Amino acid sequence: MSDYREMWKELGLDLEAHDQLLAVIPQIYGDVYLSQKNRPEGMSYLDFVMSEIHGLRVKELNDLKASGGKVVGTFCLYVPEEIVLASGAACVGICGGADWPSDEAERVLPRNLCPLIKSFMSFKLAKVCPYFESSDMIVGETTCDGKKKTYEVLGEYTNVYVMHTPQTKDDSSRRLWLEEVEKFKNEIEELTGNKIDSLALAKGIAMVNAKRAALKRLNDTRKANPVPISGKDALLIQQVAFYDDPVRFTEMINKISDELEKRIANGVGVFEKDAPRILVSGCPMAIPNWKLHHIVESSGAAIVAEEACIGHRYFRDMVSDTGTEVDDKLGAIADRYMKLDCACFTPNKERINNILRLVEDYKADGVIHYSLQFCDPFTVEYASVDKALKNAGVPVLKIETDYSMEDAGQLSTRVEAFLETIKETEGVVL
Ligand code: SF4
Ligand code: SF4
Repeated sequence: MSDYREMWKELGLDLEAHDQLLAVIPQIYGDVYLSQKNRPEGMSYLDFVMSEIHGLRVKELNDLKASGGKVVGTFCLYVPEEIVLASGAACVGICGGADWPSDEAERVLPRNLCPLIKSFMSFKLAKVCPYFESSDMIVGETTCDGKKKTYEVLGEYTNVYVMHTPQTKDDSSRRLWLEEVEKFKNEIEELTGNKIDSLALAKGIAMVNAKRAALKRLNDTRKANPVPISGKDALLIQQVAFYDDPVRFTEMINKISDELEKRIANGVGVFEKDAPRILVSGCPMAIPNWKLHHIVESSGAAIVAEEACIGHRYFRDMVSDTGTEVDDKLGAIADRYMKLDCACFTPNKERINNILRLVEDYKADGVIHYSLQFCDPFTVEYASVDKALKNAGVPVLKIETDYSMEDAGQLSTRVEAFLETIKETEGVVL
């Protein structure tokens, strides 16, 4: 990596703590990613992005800021990035997938909060995230209680704007949500000083739709048997989608899909044909949370899809670009985001139906339901997921964990036992 120390210093990072963080990533990445065999060549782009994780992209963002542009940091799929991009600002997902240094967050937050929330709060308090420090505005949302209340605390340290997200899908919720989308547009106009007109919105919508279409295309290749790309690599792509430049990312992902489609035509896969196929469903896995995928794929099974925010929920639905007025476009954006089926919704039958559909589409032999510790929405919703899958005769394994590796051995044992059960019932190759 080039020398970015001056940039990090100017951003106000704690250089010593930041050095410690950067020292561990190459080791983990090497063990989890570079150790894989027969990876698609196109993954070298992702290797490059990861080797520059706090470098090149951060520099791009800061070059944008130097020319008068703004950076908006987000945590949740509810924040319409189409509007951010329409203003000329950059939109970056602030991750929250590492368990370091969680004791920082516990200075201001309770211990029994989900690791994702504690992680992003720790990164802010420890001043080790250049994306956080580059953001002119952080956009929160009132999804789960933990995040909702944490944004009040976070607001004492940085510029936070909160979108009020609906919890039901009736007409009155849709009206309130449309108002939130309109208010968000006004807020972004004020931040950037740029008027967002219909043409700008059309461009923002087209850019994000193209990114979602590229991710959908790539994920469609995972329906093949044998799968042409590992679940780990697909997860990484979906994680990087939140912070890479959207146009470049879309182009690179389409190139990888070209390669994967050729692999399918030639019967090339990264796992043996008929290896067990697993759908992972549940909480988002933010970068660098690769724990479950690594455990599952080290046991010989292929993860073929993620029913999660870093997964299908992100790219499944497009914004329909109908109408010529700003109001038409904002209405289409509001409608698209109302389709999200996060466990924060009640009731949330759509999610159950989507899980069943994914099992069928990706020919999954079993589902691993993944929830982060202390995540009430997903942990409680597991009961309905379990019931629906059992009724459909689909084996399911419930995993509740955090970011530490302390339970890795125990999880491996449980995953292996689950795969044995699948093997006995389905006759798949292990
Ligand atoms: S799981 Fe829900 S709250 Fe979390 S990022 Fe997804 S939509 Fe947002
Ligand atoms: S994983 Fe669960 S508890 Fe954590 S932020 Fe997301 S919805 Fe909230």
